[in-house]
Amino acid sequence: MSKLVYNAVKCLECGQIIESMSQYDYKTCTCPNMAMVDGGLFYARYGARDMRMIEKIDIHDDDDYEIVRQYATRGSRGVNGDEPLTHIKLCDMNNGHLIAVLEYGAPEWHKNLILKEIAYRNVCMECELDSGHHKMSCSSRYNIKGDEI
Ligand SMILES: [Zn+2]
Ligand SMILES: [Zn+2]
Repeated sequence: MSKLVYNAVKCLECGQIIESMSQYDYKTCTCPNMAMVDGGLFYARYGARDMRMIEKIDIHDDDDYEIVRQYATRGSRGVNGDEPLTHIKLCDMNNGHLIAVLEYGAPEWHKNLILKEIAYRNVCMECELDSGHHKMSCSSRYNIKGDEI
């Protein structure tokens, strides 16, 4: 079963994209069409006065990964856990952050996304740089999965 990783609606009347970040995060646009979205990543509930004037943008973990990494996010409260919650897209996370999430632990579906991102970048297990930045001087020739880079 696929998992919802991004839940948003674009109102075609005002052009606003509204995203529901958590189960009871009910968002609306501000124009008379009153587009709404709700449910976070639990269920995609949406509506509008004129349903023909909205476009649903819901992304699932089994969609094309090139797309998934630009929408799926990781919630973070900073290094010490005391900052306001912010969401960072998988494609914008640095390698160290990805690895830290695996060490910290996450729900299975989220962990799988992080593993996909690490595989996508071909991150070196030693210097934690991706294949594009991995230095010739680095002693490791293997990525985190153990494949040669
Ligand atoms: Zn609107
Ligand atoms: Zn390296």
